[in-house]
Amino acid sequence: MSVRVVARIRPLLENELDKDVIVRADSVAEDKATTLVRIPNPKNEAEEFSFAFNSVYDLATSQESLFTSEVAPHVKSLFQGLDVTIFAYGVTGTGKTHTMRGGLRLAERGVIPRLLSNVFRRGRKIAKDTSGDTTVEVALSYYEIYNDKVYDLLEAPDKRTPSGLPLREKDGKTVVVGLSERSCEDLKDFERLYMEANKNRVTAATKLNAHSSRSHAILRVKVTQTTGRAVRESTASCIDLAGSEDNRRTDNGKERLIESAAINKSLFVLSQCIDAISRGDKRIPYRESKMTRILSLGQNNGITIMILNLAPLRSYHLDTLSSLNVSSRAKRIEVRAVENEVVYKPQAPAPRAPSALGGAMSRQP
Ligand code: ADP
Ligand code: MG
Repeated sequence: MSVRVVARIRPLLENELDKDVIVRADSVAEDKATTLVRIPNPKNEAEEFSFAFNSVYDLATSQESLFTSEVAPHVKSLFQGLDVTIFAYGVTGTGKTHTMRGGLRLAERGVIPRLLSNVFRRGRKIAKDTSGDTTVEVALSYYEIYNDKVYDLLEAPDKRTPSGLPLREKDGKTVVVGLSERSCEDLKDFERLYMEANKNRVTAATKLNAHSSRSHAILRVKVTQTTGRAVRESTASCIDLAGSEDNRRTDNGKERLIESAAINKSLFVLSQCIDAISRGDKRIPYRESKMTRILSLGQNNGITIMILNLAPLRSYHLDTLSSLNVSSRAKRIEVRAVENEVVYKPQAPAPRAPSALGGAMSRQP
């Protein structure tokens, strides 16, 4: 299985209606499925470049329809023990946060709240179908990577370690050491936590202009299914990456240049990883940034979906082309879809105090 790469072109915003549209979704001749993005060659407008993806969503695509086509089918796999990673890549202002988080109105809700809603629903169904023999627990972690440092968004900004949290490899996966995890009962519970955490992100942002477009935000949803002593754990990771624009072209002050370098570095390392994997290189430079260590593209077992967000405007031309180049190469990445193993909890010690019946038998699963 390879990384599934889909493109989503956002509509024009109200203040852009008079602007020049240069990006369009298309299909290969006769084919019904929309799989191409077409964009003019900036050096010769008479010429057009085409990029092929697994699917292309045009500006009329609703939040619901994107979710139904691209994410909902994988909720089942998540419960079968596969890890699912969904990440949004693209230039700032192209709709990454809209796609992942979305708006507050029901119809505007993005991938994340819809995923959680589906996970809770499926969890309740499993508990019901097994008459409670299987319990499903959902726990959240939420953090950002800013200047190659990891900050816990479930902690209040003043309680965070300024130097960030370290990473460690465990069972072939990269984990953030000391990251907090909150158990979540239902969608309401999730929304409260998520809103609060996003506010934490905004609080930090007031000091640093446009902070959110320069950090990677990662929401980790851990699903634990327990039947007797058998425990199956899998995670869904939803990642809203920093903007992929080339900051050398924008007028940055000194402080912003340091940030840009770190952000650009991680996105640059990501594009190098994508290139190395698609060339079949032995050495993939994952370890050169925290974001790529966490993303572990092509390394982690499971399902990976990359959503390339695009704005159709001419003012984004060069950055759009560069993001199209990076993401169209990502299609060649193979991901092994391997279920996480079921682990068995150690048997609870038999109760020591003998009852009148001569010692209770602990129930065998
Ligand atoms: P990014 O996170 O990539 O910087 P945003 O998600 O903040 O971009 O989107 C930029 C603007 O475009 C926001 O005002 C957002 O509401 C709007 N927008 C993005 N995608 C869509 C869409 N599919 N439909 C309607 N508005 C959108
Ligand atoms: Mg954003």
